[in-house]
Amino acid sequence: LCEVAASSSRPDNAALSTQYDLIVIGGGSGGVRAARLSSLYGARVALVEESRLGGTCVNRGCVPKKLFAFASRFDSLFEIAADYGWTVEASFDWPTLVANKDAEIARLEAAYESALLDAGVEVFRDHATLADRDTVGLRDAGTRLSAGRILIATGGHPVRPDIEGADLAITSDDAFGLAALPASILVVGGGYVAAEFASIFNGLGVKTSISYRRDRILRGFDNDLREGLSEAMRAAGIDILVNSQPRRLTRANEGIHVEFEHGPAATYGAVMFATGRAPNTRDLGLEAVGVVCNARAAVEVDEWSRSSVDSVFAVGDVTARSALTPVAIREGAAFAETEFNGVATAVDHRIIPTAIFSEPEVGSVGLSEEDAVMHHLEFEVYMARFRPMIATLSDRQERTMFKLIAQADSGRVLGVHVLGRDAAEIVQLAAIPVTMGATKADFDRTMAVHPTASEELVTLSKPAYRVVQGERV
Ligand code: NDP
Repeated sequence: LCEVAASSSRPDNAALSTQYDLIVIGGGSGGVRAARLSSLYGARVALVEESRLGGTCVNRGCVPKKLFAFASRFDSLFEIAADYGWTVEASFDWPTLVANKDAEIARLEAAYESALLDAGVEVFRDHATLADRDTVGLRDAGTRLSAGRILIATGGHPVRPDIEGADLAITSDDAFGLAALPASILVVGGGYVAAEFASIFNGLGVKTSISYRRDRILRGFDNDLREGLSEAMRAAGIDILVNSQPRRLTRANEGIHVEFEHGPAATYGAVMFATGRAPNTRDLGLEAVGVVCNARAAVEVDEWSRSSVDSVFAVGDVTARSALTPVAIREGAAFAETEFNGVATAVDHRIIPTAIFSEPEVGSVGLSEEDAVMHHLEFEVYMARFRPMIATLSDRQERTMFKLIAQADSGRVLGVHVLGRDAAEIVQLAAIPVTMGATKADFDRTMAVHPTASEELVTLSKPAYRVVQGERV
């Protein structure tokens, strides 16, 4: 079921409808791409956004997160600077970072708006609710818009566990605008946001702990990456509490007191929930017009992003297919191609490269070893673990890991996993041959670029082991 707000009611707008070919609800990555392309293909397009253009990625996600990640990494560079002959006197000012980040986001938002307007899209700053299968009501303007197609691209929001005092914690939405950095923080969760924000806070000098409910963070990623990142984070000073679950939060003198299901209670300057995101299907009138949502309250769509109502489509996080910006962009583009350019285009969700901007970074494309066991009888695993060159003049104990998984008979590369500096950049490029179906022999005949870390990918000579019917041999 789509979430229905208590106050939700169908709009009763008296004003006459304006007719469009497409109304997009939500001006984030997926909605903006769909709106612009559809308009460029000749459709008359309206886009309604109640908050800032750019959505989660630009305003409360990828972009500010990466800027903060850059900020948090200077400290580790200063650590080795002396071995390269530099004397650095460093101090950090959080308000400067936040203000500069805000200015950059304002610039990006303006760029999003002009890109939409330049493409001929009409932008409405309002809250939209479906009145029927082809009409949308605008709450503040009190008007209606009609269109042959309506695209829901409303994204998602962070969720908090249902525990006492949960409201005392922040989420990633709040973390970007904190007035001051806390002295210490407990990050709850073990996924993307937890790994990234724990690294950011730790790098900026906040005493950082993670509380994760199972035994190893980053469920779903290759186990060697999970283990490698956990070790590196611990070595960097992050306290990772596993099999740990907060039970109650109360306000304490200098922060928040946390009681756990098991283990001793502790007080932290702040607590952040990084416990997943849920689709924004609330208060859109979806149920009333017959749009079906799944058990996660996400709009259920087919391969063409069409919902159970044939004039209503959905792309991006609101469909919970894969909550990643590039996926939402692809889905938005495929929708426009299919509906307004006459080229039936479905997004292939099978191979989605992904990265975590933790310290060190994680990059991954294709199958993890654990997934490969489920799908392949026999495969080879190639590993390289080494100290990155930049650390060699210092005593910094930093490690890089490359792991490549190849099918035994065909040699097809099934997965590439990288832990270390620039892992995200490396995996983006490795994703090209993996998507093309390249074999280990294709990697081997590629000339190396020396000296680089990623040359390891084309110089992995012998497998570390084979996996035959789930057993390492
Ligand atoms: P994730 O789904 O990645 O992780 C959620 C974490 O919270 C998991 O470790 C989960 O544990 C844990 N959790 C869930 N519910 C509870 C609970 N009630 N109590 C305690 N722990 C709980 O979500 P994120 O919020 O980290 O990120 C949301 C999505 O946003 C990601 O899946 C990703 O698609 C996207 N994202 C992508 C980024 C990138 O591309 N770099 C960066 C940030 C976000 P368990 O493992 O047991 O389920």
